[in-house]
Amino acid sequence: MRIAVRREGVAGERRVSIVPESVKRLAAKKIDASVEAGAGAAAFASDEEYRAAGARIDPTLDALLADADAVVQIRPPRLDEVARLKEGSALVSLLFPLVEHDLVRALAARKVTAIAVDMIPRTTVAQMMDVLSSQATAAGYEAVLMAAGALPKFFPMLMTAAGTIAPARVLVLGAGVAGLQAIGTARRLGAVVEAFDVRKAVKEQVESLGAKFVEVETEDAATAGGYARELSDDSKRRQAEAIARHVAKADVVVCTALIPGRRAPVLVSGEMVASMKAGSVIVDLAAEQQGNCELTKAGQTVVEHGVTIIGVTDLTSRMCAHASQMYSRNMEKLLFYITKDGAWKLDFKDEIVAGSVITHGGEIVHPKVKELLAPAGNSDGGGNVPPSAGAAR
Ligand code: NAD
Repeated sequence: MRIAVRREGVAGERRVSIVPESVKRLAAKKIDASVEAGAGAAAFASDEEYRAAGARIDPTLDALLADADAVVQIRPPRLDEVARLKEGSALVSLLFPLVEHDLVRALAARKVTAIAVDMIPRTTVAQMMDVLSSQATAAGYEAVLMAAGALPKFFPMLMTAAGTIAPARVLVLGAGVAGLQAIGTARRLGAVVEAFDVRKAVKEQVESLGAKFVEVETEDAATAGGYARELSDDSKRRQAEAIARHVAKADVVVCTALIPGRRAPVLVSGEMVASMKAGSVIVDLAAEQQGNCELTKAGQTVVEHGVTIIGVTDLTSRMCAHASQMYSRNMEKLLFYITKDGAWKLDFKDEIVAGSVITHGGEIVHPKVKELLAPAGNSDGGGNVPPSAGAAR
C-alpha cells in the first residue's frame, strides 16, 4: 500500500499530515509513503528527512496522486481537488461531512473511500487516533501563550524590590480538551484561573488542574456522546449573569465553548467586554464558529473598549511542529487499525470504521450522512458548523 502526503492546499496552513518519523513505522507495516516535494517544509520537516526515512519524494501533486492508494491530509480538499484523486483510492482527512455535503457527493461520485478523521468515535479504543483532541491540545496551549504575549502584565505573582505584582486572572470558558489545556498552561505560567463549562462532569478535572470551577445553577448540558447541547433560555440567562461577574474581574478570557453542529454559543457580550479593565485580552478559539464573544472578528485582532480581542483561526498551524507530529501519530494508529499486511481491512461492523468511513464504492455509506443528504431529509440544518472545527483546523 502506498500513501500520499501532500502539501496542504490551504493558504497559511503550516502543518503536514505525516512527519518523517512516522514514515519508518508505517513502512514496517507495509505502508510506503510518497511525499509531495516541500510538503513538510513549513513544519520544519525537509524532503531530505523524508527521503532518509524511506519516503519517495514526488515533484508534483499529479505525480504524487498517480499511484496513491490513500491520500492522507489535514484540511478537507476543495471540490476541484477531488477530481484529481485517483478513482477507487482513499482519502483520510478532516472532512466535516455533516455540513460539507457537496464535498461528500463529489467524493462518492469519484468512488473515493473517504475517511473523515473528525468523525472517529471518541471512545477509549480510538483515543490514539483522535485528531480533534490532539489538535485541540495544541490550540489550547497556543491560545494562552498568545494571551500572555498580548497582555501588558505578568501572569505570575511576583514579589520584587519594586513591590508585589498580583497574578493575572484568567477565565476559561468551555473546559473540553482545548479548555483544559488552556487551564493547565495558564496555571503553569502562574495565573489564577477560573473555568466554566455547561457539562458538570468537568468540575473535577478543572479543580485537579488547580483552577476554580465557576458554579452556575443550570441543567447539566452533557449529552450521551460527551459533548454539550444548547442550554434552555432560563439557564442561558443565569449563565450570562454569572459569566458577566467573572469576566469583569478577568485580565484574560480564553473562549473555547463549542456545540457540535451549531454556531458557537455567545457567552461574552459587548457589554461584558466594556466592563473589563483596559488592556485585558480575550482569545476566542471559537472564532471560526462565529465566536463566543460578540465582538470577535474571525482571523483578526481588534481592540474594543480597550480590550484586545484575538479571533485567531490558525492556532494549530502556529504550533505546526508538534501539531503535525501528533496528527501524524494519530494517522499511524488509524492506518494500522484499518489495514493488515499493506492491504485494507475495512470492517463496517467495527464502530471506528462505521463511524468514520463516509463514502465507499461510489456510495455514501455513513448512515447519518446518508440520511442528511437524502432528498427527503434535504437539509443542512440551518446554521450548522462543523463539530469542534475551531480547534482542529
Ligand atoms: P468541544 O470542542 O465540542 O466543546 C468544548 C467545550 O465547550 C465542551 O467542554 C463543552 O461542554 C463546552 N461548552 C459548550 N457550550 C458551552 C456553554 N454554553 N458554556 C460553557 N461551555 C460550553 O468539546 P471537546 O473538547 O472536543 O470534547 C468534549 C468532551 O468529549 C471532552 O471533554 C470529553 O469528555 C469527551 N472526549 C472523550 C474522549 C474519549 O473518551 N476518548 C476524547 C476526547 C473527548
